[in-house]
Amino acid sequence: MSSESTTTSPRDERAQDLCALVDASPSPFHLCAEVSRRLEAAGFARTLEADAWPAEPGRYYLVRGGSLLAWSTESARGPQSAFRIVGGHTDSPNLRVKQHPDRTSAGWETVALQPYGGPLLNSWLDRELGLSGRVTVATGGGAEQRLVRIDEPVLTVPQLAIHLAEDRKGVELNPQRHLDAVYGVGEGAALLSDVAASLDVDADAILGWELMTHDLVPSRVFGRHADMLAAPRLDNQTTCWAGTTALLDAVERPTEGVVPLLVLFDHEEVGSTSDRGAESDLLVTAIERIVLAAGGTREDYHRAVAGSVVASGDMAHATHPNYADRHEPYHQIAPNGGPVLKVHPNLRYATDATGTAAFALACDQAGVPLQRYEHRADLPCGSTVGPMTAARTGIPTVDVGAPQLAMHAARELMGAADPGMYADALAAFLAPAR
Ligand code: ZN
Repeated sequence: MSSESTTTSPRDERAQDLCALVDASPSPFHLCAEVSRRLEAAGFARTLEADAWPAEPGRYYLVRGGSLLAWSTESARGPQSAFRIVGGHTDSPNLRVKQHPDRTSAGWETVALQPYGGPLLNSWLDRELGLSGRVTVATGGGAEQRLVRIDEPVLTVPQLAIHLAEDRKGVELNPQRHLDAVYGVGEGAALLSDVAASLDVDADAILGWELMTHDLVPSRVFGRHADMLAAPRLDNQTTCWAGTTALLDAVERPTEGVVPLLVLFDHEEVGSTSDRGAESDLLVTAIERIVLAAGGTREDYHRAVAGSVVASGDMAHATHPNYADRHEPYHQIAPNGGPVLKVHPNLRYATDATGTAAFALACDQAGVPLQRYEHRADLPCGSTVGPMTAARTGIPTVDVGAPQLAMHAARELMGAADPGMYADALAAFLAPAR
C-alpha cells in the first residue's frame, strides 16, 4: 500500500466518483438515470421530444431510451453559435435474457441468456450475477416503463470442469449452448414472475422487457500504489462519466458564443442502427431544434453546424504487459499517461488533422499529456460512434479515449489517474480558451 493511502487526493476522489457512476449503472437505462440525476443537481432541466422546446437560454437534457443528450445555451450568442460536442456510448457487451427464458436441465433451473455485442465470454463464467434493465408494464389502457434492478446474486454461468474438456486445456464456448445461467436447483423457474414481484406488479402486466445480467463485485481502486481501477463497463461508462463531469465543469466557466453539448448513444456495441443509436437522427435533430427554439432559421442551423467540432470518446487499448507484440511498437500507450488520440487512415476512427488540432489544444489548455494511438496494420481495428457522427452531421470529428486493458471483459482495468485527466481534457474541449 502507498504511504499516502490514508489521505484522499483529488485523483482518488475522481476515480472513486467514476466507480460510483459505474456501480449505479448496470444497464444503459440506469446509466441515463444516473447521468440525469447528476445533471439535475447542477440545474439542468429535462425536455421532452414531444413538447415545444424552451426559447430561454438555459441548461437542458433529454433521454431517448438508453441514450441521453445534454447542452447549455447560457453562453450562446445568437442562434448560429457553434457547438462543441462530446460523444460516447452508454451500452457495454453483456449477457441478455431471451424472451422465453425459463428452462430445466439435468436437475437445474436455468435461464436462457445470449451475448449482446462482443463480450469476452470466458470472463462471464463463474460470477454471481444480478439482473437489470427495463420492462414495460400495462397500466390499464397504456403502458409505462419501469427500471428493474435485482442486486442479489441470483444467477451464475458455471464453467465446464477441466476434466471434461476434450483436450484438458480450454473450453470453446458456443453462444447458443453454453451461456445459460443456473437459477436454482429443481424445476419450475419463472424469471419474469420474480421480476414482476420485485416491481410489485402482476407477471401478466409485463408487456415487454430488455433485461441483462451484471457482475455484483463493486468497482474499486486497487494495487500496490492504489493507482489502478477495476470495474465492469469501463468501455464506455468511463466516457459517460468523463463527458458528464466535463459538461458540468464547462457550464461553470463557458466560452462565449459556444454551446457545449454531450451526447451518449445506446447500441454502439451492436452497430448503432436504431432509433437512438449514433446512426439515428438524435444528434442532428437535437441541434436543429436547439437552433430553431432560439429563434434561428434553417440557415442559422447550417451556420452553427459549419463551426462545430465533435470529440467522440471511447476507450483505447493500453499496451498489454503480457502481449506487447500485439501493439504497434512505436505507438505504445501507457496507463496513467493521459488521454489517447485514435487515428486510423482507413477511417475506423474519424480523426483528421482538423479535429486533432482541437483536441491537442484542449489537452494543452487542461495541462494533460496526449498519447497518439495507431492500431497494428496487420490486425483488424475496432470502430466507434465517431465515423457515424461525422457522416450524419458533417461536423469534423476527432476520436479520443482513455487507456484500458481487457476491453469487453466482464471486468476491465485502467489507471486511476486517467479518468481525471480525460475529464479535464474534455472540459477544455467543451469550453475552449481559443
Ligand atoms: Zn466502446
